[in-house]
Amino acid sequence: MAWDFSTEPEFQRQLDWVEEFCRTEVEPLDLVFPGAAYSRNPKAKALADPLKQQVKDRGLWALFLDSELGGPGFGQLKLALLNEILGRYRAAPVVFGTAAPDTGNMEMLAAYGTDEQKSRWLFPLLNQEIFSAYSMTEPQGGSDPSLFKTHAARDGDEWVINGEKWFTSAGAYADIIFVMCVNGMFVVPRDSPGVEIAEQPALHNHIRYNNVRVPADHLLGPEDGAKVLAQRRLGGGRIHHAMRTVAQVKLAFDIMCERALSRESHGKIIAEHQMVQEAIADSYAEINMLRLLVLWTAWTIDNSSTKQARTQIAACKYTSAKVLREVSYRALHIMGSLGTTDLTPLQAMWAAAPTMAIADGVDEVHKVTVARNLLRDCEPHPGLWPTEYLPAKREEARKKYADLIAADRDLAAWADAAASGSRFRLGRR
Ligand SMILES: Cc1cc2nc3c(=O)[nH]c(=O)nc-3n(C[C@H](O)[C@H](O)[C@H](O)COP(=O)(O)OP(=O)(O)OC[C@H]3O[C@@H](n4cnc5c(N)ncnc54)[C@H](O)[C@@H]3O)c2cc1C
Repeated sequence: MAWDFSTEPEFQRQLDWVEEFCRTEVEPLDLVFPGAAYSRNPKAKALADPLKQQVKDRGLWALFLDSELGGPGFGQLKLALLNEILGRYRAAPVVFGTAAPDTGNMEMLAAYGTDEQKSRWLFPLLNQEIFSAYSMTEPQGGSDPSLFKTHAARDGDEWVINGEKWFTSAGAYADIIFVMCVNGMFVVPRDSPGVEIAEQPALHNHIRYNNVRVPADHLLGPEDGAKVLAQRRLGGGRIHHAMRTVAQVKLAFDIMCERALSRESHGKIIAEHQMVQEAIADSYAEINMLRLLVLWTAWTIDNSSTKQARTQIAACKYTSAKVLREVSYRALHIMGSLGTTDLTPLQAMWAAAPTMAIADGVDEVHKVTVARNLLRDCEPHPGLWPTEYLPAKREEARKKYADLIAADRDLAAWADAAASGSRFRLGRR
């Protein structure tokens, strides 16, 4: 029997270690020195690097990559279980070498890079010697790639890129930017002449590529292959976000339950009010529905491919946003006024829900993907009535019992009554 919801004891020991490590090392670092895990400042590195080294020593660095690419090769299911813990702590993904946007970019490089490209960019990314960004969305519209215009023209041994990108996360801090052009995916060093980064927005950058020249070998994958590479890149990124969302909603749930047991109102603790109980019960069910969807999707990727799991990944994407919105709102609400402040993680978590519904593709587009893919396996019914039209099914089933019905008046009366929708009682004898 293969349906098994348990975790191997050996990996569970790793998860227990991760939980303890995040609680006692990663969270305190981030609370006292926010951003230290990402910083290149020597003082910050002196604080964060020993933690990263502990993760490496434990064999848990870059869990999402196969062993030949420098990761432990655990696969997506184990990564999902790990991310259920890491997603709770802001600095944890980077301390474990599994932070966006680098993970998706590394997956794309691992899948499509030449050996030369991997040694030039993948291994330094893996070791956090360099950081990357992903430049796909354009100001005139992000949901529809057919509107994109950024283009690379071949000029001798170089490509010359022209275009404008919007919302390139961490573009201003990246060493290399993966730029999606209409005719291919290119790796652009951020300091290349012609890369112009606007001041606003501050974190998700607006970038103009003005006659940016890169050597011919900076084309990743085949010419004109950008859409396929983008799917690969975004598929991985989306499922990782969903895994971390499970951690976030579990955190919201813990906060909600603790508070429900700690406050009193109208003569009882608020956990005894039925509407608070409803919030807890609904959240429990929704969290577990999301969690099982994510774990099943991760399992599917491990046992087939990201491409094969596309429908499931899309479903994880919009379900994450929905569950995050609902559960974080309930938790915030149960916290009362305190929930509306930034003195707990809840307000930021709730504010992140709309972002989750837009980043990596708006929910609507993913819902369309899911519906379209599912409908491909369906057929219209041939006649006027649907396949499950009961009178027609009953008539067909009756043929199976034709001999019995012909031979027995009681059975015939029973079957006739069922067909006409009237009541029928067979006597005791
Ligand atoms: C936090 C964050 C980080 C991001 N990081 C990156 C990054 O690193 N690199 C990058 O390239 N991009 C990034 N993006 C951009 C993201 O990919 C786009 O915002 C997204 O694809 C939507 O594009 P848009 O913002 O242009 O919205 P639009 O395409 O203008 O969509 C706006 C709205 O129109 C409606 N709509 C659009 N299409 C449809 C449809 N087919 N059916 C029904 N309704 C529709 C929906 O209501 C939708 O919300 C990031 C976005 C966020 C929020």
